Amino acid sequence: MQHSPEPASELAQELAGPQRLVFTDLDGSLLDHHTYQHDAARDALKALQQRHIPVIPVTSKTRPEVEKLARTLPFSGPMIVENGAAVLIPQSLVQACPSGAEKSGAFWLRAFCAPRQHWVDMVQQLGSEFRDEFFGLAGADATTVAEITGLAPADALLANTRAYSEPLLWQSSAARRDLFIQRISSLDGRAQIGGRLVSVSGDADKGKAIAWLRDIIATETGRPVLDLALGDGENDVPMLEVTSSAVAIRSPNHKFPRLRRTDGLYFSKRCGPEGWAEGVFRWLEMTDHTDANTPKTDNNQTKDEALWETSTRTE
Ligand SMILES: [Mg+2]
Repeated sequence: MQHSPEPASELAQELAGPQRLVFTDLDGSLLDHHTYQHDAARDALKALQQRHIPVIPVTSKTRPEVEKLARTLPFSGPMIVENGAAVLIPQSLVQACPSGAEKSGAFWLRAFCAPRQHWVDMVQQLGSEFRDEFFGLAGADATTVAEITGLAPADALLANTRAYSEPLLWQSSAARRDLFIQRISSLDGRAQIGGRLVSVSGDADKGKAIAWLRDIIATETGRPVLDLALGDGENDVPMLEVTSSAVAIRSPNHKFPRLRRTDGLYFSKRCGPEGWAEGVFRWLEMTDHTDANTPKTDNNQTKDEALWETSTRTE
């Protein structure tokens, strides 16, 4: 005889509803492209916080950069850094070390590609063929990185604390750069052209990192996940393709990212954090009815919701 699930657990599941999650790019999405401010997204962040929906940064930024941002933004839970190269989960949220992860300070850390030194060595292999055509940032001092990136020296230092990639300043022609990118590919690396720099790393991306983290959260909460991704750039494509809903954020500088999906996708009318707020409010309107336990006040907050709630990280 086939065993049917216990009615009590089915009922509990129905009452709890899905665990909603927001995965977001930072620069040009939650943060303004020029000012790096997020004022226009404050009300939307508050609405998420009231519903205990975590906001999970998914960014090309480094771990120290995101930890600094967490002093002013409600990032108290997991984070995905260096374009999906690493996922960090606070140990306070997940007790047992997830498969493939390791302990790193107060976090579980899952790395999706080799450490920076591997990519530095790969780049050096090409040093004789491309002599004086690029400058690698490994070992560069804060003043030099500040000059190259336009950041303040302290921020430049945080930005160059990369654990999984080696940024290069390209000093030769675009044709030579394309040949360099081909050579990196033939060595099983991946070189991506950014605004100012060429980044050499492995085959990680924002989508793979989200898929892994989402499984951990679903297991931990015992609830299905209903997720939203928001991003403005081409490096956000894997992330925008993998979540149940996606918002492509309009940019004043470039076109929308090119996506295959058509369902569950919204193109924001406004740019940056204004478009971010527009997309979040639209998604909340669409999904609020699915969350039977959406707390109206803090008094009826359940244990699971408290575990994954959004609050400002305290250092
Ligand atoms: Mg962006």
